[in-house]
Amino acid sequence: MSEQRGLLIVVSGPAGSGKGTVLSELLRDGGYRYSVSATTRAPRQGEVDGVNYHFLSREAFEARIAGKEMLEYTEYCGNYYGTPRKEAEEVLASGQNLLLEIEVEGAANVKREYPEAVSIMLLPPSFAVQEKRLRGRGTETEEKIRERLLRAREEILHADEYDYVIYNHDGKSAEAVEDIRAIVRAERAALRRNPDVVKNYFA
Ligand code: 5GP
Repeated sequence: MSEQRGLLIVVSGPAGSGKGTVLSELLRDGGYRYSVSATTRAPRQGEVDGVNYHFLSREAFEARIAGKEMLEYTEYCGNYYGTPRKEAEEVLASGQNLLLEIEVEGAANVKREYPEAVSIMLLPPSFAVQEKRLRGRGTETEEKIRERLLRAREEILHADEYDYVIYNHDGKSAEAVEDIRAIVRAERAALRRNPDVVKNYFA
């Protein structure tokens, strides 16, 4: 097999889609690297700097933007979020799959810069379920919840810009994980990603 660059996998899931659960299960498979984003939002309880996010001040984030150190970035509900470019490039060059968990604007920017990226939208089964999940989390104020629900409505309108859409039904996150595995397996085998298949076979 030829030396293949890693697959750049973009997963977006509006608040309440359960993407945290699904992606942490997927990461246990090995073979994937999670891109640790930078953000200016405050850490939530249990979040660790350098593991969940690189938590930065606005000034530090803006300096990175100016230095072109972000592969993409956006402002989401009043805070900056962005993907550090250097780590992403290193992982892809090493042949490992890189998982970006980012919102719709960032996903569109990644697709523009890396058309070979695979984009997946993870959705809750319905808006009603989404709202229930978000309130059940109990980590945010009512104002923040409303803001995130509003944003989630806008994000879902972009679902048809993605390569794949999958659903995370209550109690069935394992199925959503299996869907992502199947997508990745098929994408890695796609002929357009393996142009030297015949030449390599006889090598
Ligand atoms: P949260 O504050 O809930 O961790 O994340 C809020 C939103 O920002 C989520 O939709 C998450 O996917 C998105 N996000 C996290 N990191 C990045 C990033 O590096 N770039 C972009 N564009 N969005 C991000």
